[in-house]
Amino acid sequence: MRLPAILIPLLALTTACAPALRPLPPMAPLPEPPAESPEPMDVRLARPVELLAPELLALRERGLLVPVEGVSADRITDTFSDPRDGQRVHNAVDILAKRGTAVLAADDGVILRVGKNTLGGNVVWASDATRTFAYYYAHLDAWAHGLKEGQSVSRGDVIGYVGTTGNAPKNVPHLHFQLLRMTDARRFTDGPPINPLPYFALSPNATR
Ligand SMILES: [Zn+2]
Repeated sequence: MRLPAILIPLLALTTACAPALRPLPPMAPLPEPPAESPEPMDVRLARPVELLAPELLALRERGLLVPVEGVSADRITDTFSDPRDGQRVHNAVDILAKRGTAVLAADDGVILRVGKNTLGGNVVWASDATRTFAYYYAHLDAWAHGLKEGQSVSRGDVIGYVGTTGNAPKNVPHLHFQLLRMTDARRFTDGPPINPLPYFALSPNATR
């Protein structure tokens, strides 16, 4: 066994007054490396890193309006990751309110779609002004009068009313609100969902 060059003078120094130089015990062999090594931490934490994307930071900075009149963000339960129907994940939040309560645009932007579907009932799709995010409002009792695709909306504009259309329980009127990233302007329904809760402004329906 060879000693590193730097250790030789040190060893000589420490053993100079010693009665005898005892042989060092043999080094244990290194264990075999495991076949699979863990990934570096920052790769495993890909999702939190994604949260630092500039567009998400900008969204957090301006803060989404809680899109139901009179409701503050601290009254919304985080059900984003809850299972639905045994196979789907909710990917949205439910904002409980009395039937007929005004549903407000969460952000400045454009109405992309006004329509109906099986689960959502009466729904509105909108985007922010830069078409970076899509907003989905579902279970509406009714739409705001005259609301139409292509229309510009400002944060806080009434776009509809809370209801139970679609698969919402008839005794639990609420707004199902979803935030998605728009990866393709024509297929805005397919973008990855983002939990909107951290992006809501804290003051109730503050129009800044
Ligand atoms: Zn929901």
